[in-house]
Amino acid sequence: MPRLSGKHCVVTGAARGIGAAIARAFVTEGAQVILTDIDAATGEATAAALGMPFHRLDVASEADWQAFAEICPETDVVVNNAGITGFEAGPVPHDPETAALADWRAVMAVNLDGVFLGCRYAIGAMKGRGTGSIINNSSHSGLVGIPAAAAYAASKAGVRNHSKSVALYCAGQGWAIRCNSIHPGAILTPMWEAVIGDGPDREARMARLVADTPLRRFGAPEEVAALAVLLASDEAGYITGAELTIDGGLLAGTAARP
Ligand code: NAP
Repeated sequence: MPRLSGKHCVVTGAARGIGAAIARAFVTEGAQVILTDIDAATGEATAAALGMPFHRLDVASEADWQAFAEICPETDVVVNNAGITGFEAGPVPHDPETAALADWRAVMAVNLDGVFLGCRYAIGAMKGRGTGSIINNSSHSGLVGIPAAAAYAASKAGVRNHSKSVALYCAGQGWAIRCNSIHPGAILTPMWEAVIGDGPDREARMARLVADTPLRRFGAPEEVAALAVLLASDEAGYITGAELTIDGGLLAGTAARP
Protein backbone atom coordinates (compact mmCIF):
# COMPACT_ATOMS: atom_id res chain seq x y z
CA MET A 1 0.00 0.00 0.00
CA PRO A 2 1.62 3.35 -1.01
CA ARG A 3 2.24 5.50 2.06
CA LEU A 4 0.86 8.76 0.59
CA SER A 5 -2.05 7.37 -1.35
CA GLY A 6 -4.74 10.00 -1.96
CA LYS A 7 -2.72 12.86 -0.50
CA HIS A 8 -2.50 16.19 -2.33
CA CYS A 9 0.93 17.72 -1.91
CA VAL A 10 2.75 20.93 -2.83
CA VAL A 11 6.54 21.15 -3.05
CA THR A 12 8.41 24.45 -3.51
CA GLY A 13 11.78 24.63 -5.25
CA ALA A 14 10.86 21.35 -6.91
CA ALA A 15 12.55 21.89 -10.28
CA ARG A 16 15.76 20.21 -9.19
CA GLY A 17 17.80 19.01 -6.23
CA ILE A 18 16.14 17.99 -2.97
CA GLY A 19 12.74 19.41 -3.99
CA ALA A 20 12.66 17.33 -7.17
CA ALA A 21 13.67 14.22 -5.22
CA ILE A 22 10.88 14.84 -2.69
CA ALA A 23 8.31 15.29 -5.47
CA ARG A 24 9.54 12.05 -7.11
CA ALA A 25 9.34 10.09 -3.85
CA PHE A 26 5.87 11.44 -3.07
CA VAL A 27 4.61 10.37 -6.51
CA THR A 28 6.15 6.92 -6.02
CA GLU A 29 4.19 6.70 -2.75
CA GLY A 30 0.90 7.44 -4.51
CA ALA A 31 0.56 11.21 -3.91
CA GLN A 32 -0.74 13.86 -6.28
CA VAL A 33 1.93 16.56 -6.33
CA ILE A 34 1.97 20.12 -7.62
CA LEU A 35 5.59 21.01 -8.30
CA THR A 36 6.42 24.71 -7.92
CA ASP A 37 9.59 26.69 -8.55
CA ILE A 38 10.85 30.05 -9.77
CA ASP A 39 12.60 28.28 -12.68
CA ALA A 40 9.66 27.50 -14.96
CA ALA A 41 11.58 25.78 -17.77
CA THR A 42 13.31 23.22 -15.53
CA GLY A 43 10.24 22.89 -13.33
CA GLU A 44 7.96 22.10 -16.28
CA ALA A 45 10.36 19.41 -17.46
CA THR A 46 10.70 17.83 -14.00
CA ALA A 47 6.93 17.84 -13.50
CA ALA A 48 6.24 16.44 -16.98
CA ALA A 49 8.61 13.53 -16.31
CA LEU A 50 6.50 12.68 -13.24
CA GLY A 51 3.16 13.24 -15.00
CA MET A 52 2.31 15.98 -12.49
CA PRO A 53 1.38 19.68 -12.87
CA PHE A 54 3.82 22.56 -12.48
CA HIS A 55 3.06 26.06 -11.23
CA ARG A 56 5.57 28.90 -11.28
CA LEU A 57 5.79 30.31 -7.77
CA ASP A 58 8.41 32.63 -6.26
CA VAL A 59 8.20 31.74 -2.56
CA ALA A 60 9.22 35.27 -1.56
CA SER A 61 6.24 36.80 -3.38
CA GLU A 62 3.03 37.24 -1.39
CA ALA A 63 1.14 37.85 -4.65
CA ASP A 64 2.37 34.51 -6.04
CA TRP A 65 1.14 32.68 -2.92
CA GLN A 66 -2.24 34.45 -3.10
CA ALA A 67 -2.64 33.43 -6.74
CA PHE A 68 -1.59 29.89 -5.90
CA ALA A 69 -4.17 29.69 -3.08
CA GLU A 70 -6.88 30.41 -5.63
CA ILE A 71 -5.92 27.48 -7.85
CA CYS A 72 -5.10 25.16 -4.94
CA PRO A 73 -7.35 26.12 -2.01
CA GLU A 74 -6.98 22.76 -0.21
CA THR A 75 -4.02 20.50 0.30
CA ASP A 76 -2.74 17.81 2.66
CA VAL A 77 1.03 18.33 2.60
CA VAL A 78 3.19 21.40 1.94
CA VAL A 79 6.95 21.10 1.68
CA ASN A 80 8.62 24.50 2.02
CA ASN A 81 11.87 23.46 0.38
CA ALA A 82 13.01 26.39 -1.81
CA GLY A 83 16.10 28.12 -0.50
CA ILE A 84 19.23 29.94 -1.60
CA THR A 85 22.71 30.29 -0.14
CA GLY A 86 23.29 33.84 -1.39
CA PHE A 87 26.38 32.67 -3.29
CA GLU A 88 24.54 31.74 -6.51
CA ALA A 89 26.01 34.67 -8.49
CA GLY A 90 29.51 34.16 -7.09
CA PRO A 91 31.37 34.68 -3.83
CA VAL A 92 30.27 37.74 -1.84
CA PRO A 93 31.03 38.48 1.81
CA HIS A 94 28.34 37.06 4.06
CA ASP A 95 30.19 37.35 7.36
CA PRO A 96 28.67 39.36 10.24
CA GLU A 97 31.12 42.26 9.81
CA THR A 98 31.11 42.97 6.08
CA ALA A 99 27.91 41.46 4.65
CA ALA A 100 25.80 44.02 2.76
CA LEU A 101 22.29 44.60 4.02
CA ALA A 102 20.91 43.99 0.52
CA ASP A 103 22.62 40.57 0.36
CA TRP A 104 21.38 39.70 3.87
CA ARG A 105 17.82 40.68 2.94
CA ALA A 106 17.91 38.73 -0.33
CA VAL A 107 18.66 35.52 1.57
CA MET A 108 16.04 36.27 4.22
CA ALA A 109 13.41 37.02 1.57
CA VAL A 110 13.62 33.55 0.03
CA ASN A 111 14.60 31.40 2.99
CA LEU A 112 12.59 32.97 5.81
CA ASP A 113 9.84 35.11 4.24
CA GLY A 114 9.29 32.22 1.82
CA VAL A 115 8.74 29.75 4.65
CA PHE A 116 6.51 32.19 6.56
CA LEU A 117 4.33 32.68 3.46
CA GLY A 118 4.35 28.96 2.68
CA CYS A 119 3.23 28.07 6.20
CA ARG A 120 0.53 30.73 6.12
CA TYR A 121 -0.75 29.31 2.83
CA ALA A 122 -0.58 25.76 4.21
CA ILE A 123 -2.60 26.59 7.33
CA GLY A 124 -5.31 28.18 5.19
CA ALA A 125 -5.35 25.20 2.84
CA MET A 126 -5.47 22.61 5.65
CA LYS A 127 -7.62 24.08 8.41
CA GLY A 128 -10.93 23.26 6.70
CA ARG A 129 -10.25 19.57 7.26
CA GLY A 130 -8.15 20.27 10.35
CA THR A 131 -5.36 17.94 9.31
CA GLY A 132 -2.15 18.06 7.32
CA SER A 133 1.64 18.08 7.37
CA ILE A 134 3.95 21.04 6.84
CA ILE A 135 7.61 20.19 6.25
CA ASN A 136 10.12 23.04 6.32
CA ASN A 137 13.58 22.49 4.87
CA SER A 138 16.03 24.20 7.21
CA SER A 139 19.65 23.03 7.36
CA HIS A 140 22.30 21.87 9.78
CA SER A 141 23.34 25.54 9.40
CA GLY A 142 20.17 26.46 11.28
CA LEU A 143 21.53 24.76 14.38
CA VAL A 144 25.08 26.16 14.52
CA GLY A 145 26.79 29.44 13.69
CA ILE A 146 28.36 29.72 10.22
CA PRO A 147 30.57 32.86 10.17
CA ALA A 148 31.12 32.84 6.40
CA ALA A 149 27.42 32.35 5.65
CA ALA A 150 25.80 34.29 8.48
CA ALA A 151 22.67 35.28 6.56
CA TYR A 152 22.02 31.70 5.45
CA ALA A 153 22.58 30.37 8.98
CA ALA A 154 20.31 33.01 10.55
CA SER A 155 17.59 32.40 7.98
CA LYS A 156 17.69 28.65 8.59
CA ALA A 157 17.62 29.16 12.37
CA GLY A 158 14.51 31.26 11.78
CA VAL A 159 12.97 28.41 9.80
CA ARG A 160 13.63 26.04 12.72
CA ASN A 161 11.99 28.33 15.24
CA HIS A 162 9.05 29.34 13.05
CA SER A 163 8.28 25.66 12.45
CA LYS A 164 7.82 25.23 16.20
CA SER A 165 5.57 28.31 16.41
CA VAL A 166 3.44 26.93 13.57
CA ALA A 167 3.27 23.49 15.22
CA LEU A 168 2.16 24.97 18.56
CA TYR A 169 -0.29 27.39 16.94
CA CYS A 170 -2.01 24.63 14.98
CA ALA A 171 -2.14 22.27 17.97
CA GLY A 172 -3.56 25.13 20.04
CA GLN A 173 -6.37 25.57 17.50
CA GLY A 174 -7.26 21.91 17.96
CA TRP A 175 -6.05 20.97 14.48
CA ALA A 176 -4.02 17.88 13.61
CA ILE A 177 -1.87 20.04 11.37
CA ARG A 178 1.72 19.05 12.08
CA CYS A 179 4.77 21.15 11.31
CA ASN A 180 8.36 19.96 11.47
CA SER A 181 11.76 21.14 10.26
CA ILE A 182 14.40 19.00 8.61
CA HIS A 183 18.10 19.80 8.89
CA PRO A 184 20.24 18.29 6.13
CA GLY A 185 24.02 18.36 6.16
CA ALA A 186 25.90 18.33 2.85
CA ILE A 187 23.54 16.87 0.23
CA LEU A 188 24.91 16.51 -3.30
CA THR A 189 22.69 18.78 -5.43
CA PRO A 190 23.29 21.51 -8.03
CA MET A 191 23.62 23.92 -5.07
CA TRP A 192 27.08 22.41 -4.45
CA GLU A 193 28.30 22.30 -8.05
CA ALA A 194 29.78 25.82 -8.05
CA VAL A 195 31.78 24.94 -4.95
CA ILE A 196 32.96 21.53 -6.12
CA GLY A 197 33.64 22.28 -9.78
CA ASP A 198 34.87 19.86 -12.44
CA GLY A 199 38.29 18.51 -13.30
CA PRO A 200 40.47 15.63 -12.24
CA ASP A 201 40.57 16.57 -8.54
CA ARG A 202 36.77 16.79 -8.19
CA GLU A 203 36.66 13.63 -6.05
CA ALA A 204 39.43 14.95 -3.79
CA ARG A 205 37.59 18.26 -3.33
CA MET A 206 34.40 16.41 -2.50
CA ALA A 207 36.24 14.28 0.05
CA ARG A 208 37.69 17.40 1.69
CA LEU A 209 34.24 19.00 1.93
CA VAL A 210 32.88 16.05 3.92
CA ALA A 211 36.04 15.25 5.88
CA ASP A 212 34.37 16.37 9.13
CA THR A 213 31.19 14.39 8.47
CA PRO A 214 31.35 11.14 10.48
CA LEU A 215 29.92 9.09 7.56
CA ARG A 216 32.51 10.79 5.27
CA ARG A 217 30.28 11.25 2.25
CA PHE A 218 27.66 13.61 0.85
CA GLY A 219 24.06 12.67 1.43
CA ALA A 220 21.79 11.96 -1.54
CA PRO A 221 18.63 14.00 -2.24
CA GLU A 222 16.72 10.70 -2.16
CA GLU A 223 17.79 10.18 1.46
CA VAL A 224 16.25 13.54 2.43
CA ALA A 225 13.16 12.66 0.38
CA ALA A 226 12.72 9.46 2.40
CA LEU A 227 12.54 11.53 5.58
CA ALA A 228 10.00 13.87 3.96
CA VAL A 229 7.86 10.85 3.00
CA LEU A 230 7.79 9.75 6.64
CA LEU A 231 6.80 13.23 7.88
CA ALA A 232 4.12 13.55 5.18
CA SER A 233 2.62 10.17 5.99
CA ASP A 234 0.07 9.25 8.65
CA GLU A 235 2.79 7.14 10.32
CA ALA A 236 4.18 10.44 11.63
CA GLY A 237 0.87 11.46 13.22
CA TYR A 238 2.48 12.12 16.63
CA ILE A 239 5.50 14.05 15.31
CA THR A 240 5.09 17.82 15.42
CA GLY A 241 7.36 20.71 16.39
CA ALA A 242 10.35 18.42 15.88
CA GLU A 243 13.69 19.19 14.25
CA LEU A 244 15.15 16.22 12.44
CA THR A 245 18.81 16.17 11.42
CA ILE A 246 19.94 14.19 8.38
CA ASP A 247 23.63 14.98 8.24
CA GLY A 248 25.76 11.83 8.34
CA GLY A 249 26.31 12.37 12.06
CA LEU A 250 27.82 15.87 11.73
CA LEU A 251 25.94 17.40 14.64
CA ALA A 252 26.32 14.36 16.87
CA GLY A 253 29.82 15.54 17.72
CA THR A 254 31.57 18.85 17.99
CA ALA A 255 32.94 19.01 14.44
CA ALA A 256 30.57 21.69 13.14
CA ARG A 257 31.50 22.93 9.68
CA PRO A 258 33.14 26.40 9.81
P1 NAP B 1 19.04 23.70 -5.44
O1 NAP B 1 19.62 22.52 -6.13
O2 NAP B 1 19.69 25.03 -5.63
O3 NAP B 1 17.49 23.81 -5.80
C1 NAP B 1 16.71 24.83 -5.26
C2 NAP B 1 15.58 25.14 -6.20
O4 NAP B 1 14.84 26.23 -5.60
C3 NAP B 1 16.06 25.63 -7.57
O5 NAP B 1 15.26 25.07 -8.59
C4 NAP B 1 15.86 27.13 -7.47
O6 NAP B 1 15.63 27.76 -8.73
C5 NAP B 1 14.61 27.22 -6.61
N1 NAP B 1 14.43 28.54 -6.04
C6 NAP B 1 15.36 29.47 -5.74
N2 NAP B 1 14.78 30.59 -5.31
C7 NAP B 1 13.44 30.38 -5.35
C8 NAP B 1 12.30 31.16 -5.06
N3 NAP B 1 12.41 32.45 -4.64
N4 NAP B 1 11.07 30.62 -5.20
C9 NAP B 1 10.94 29.35 -5.64
N5 NAP B 1 11.97 28.57 -5.97
C10 NAP B 1 13.21 29.07 -5.81
O7 NAP B 1 19.02 23.50 -3.86
P2 NAP B 1 18.98 22.14 -2.97
O8 NAP B 1 20.37 21.79 -2.64
O9 NAP B 1 18.07 21.15 -3.58
O10 NAP B 1 18.34 22.74 -1.63
C11 NAP B 1 16.95 22.70 -1.38
C12 NAP B 1 16.72 23.18 0.05
O11 NAP B 1 17.49 22.39 0.95
C13 NAP B 1 17.16 24.62 0.31
O12 NAP B 1 16.25 25.26 1.19
C14 NAP B 1 18.50 24.48 0.97
O13 NAP B 1 18.85 25.58 1.78
C15 NAP B 1 18.28 23.22 1.78
N6 NAP B 1 19.52 22.54 2.14
C16 NAP B 1 20.34 22.05 1.18
C17 NAP B 1 21.52 21.41 1.55
C18 NAP B 1 22.48 20.84 0.54
O14 NAP B 1 23.60 20.46 0.94
N7 NAP B 1 22.13 20.75 -0.73
C19 NAP B 1 21.84 21.29 2.91
C20 NAP B 1 20.97 21.81 3.85
C21 NAP B 1 19.80 22.43 3.47
P3 NAP B 1 16.88 28.49 -9.46
O15 NAP B 1 17.77 27.38 -9.91
O16 NAP B 1 16.26 29.25 -10.58
O17 NAP B 1 17.52 29.37 -8.43
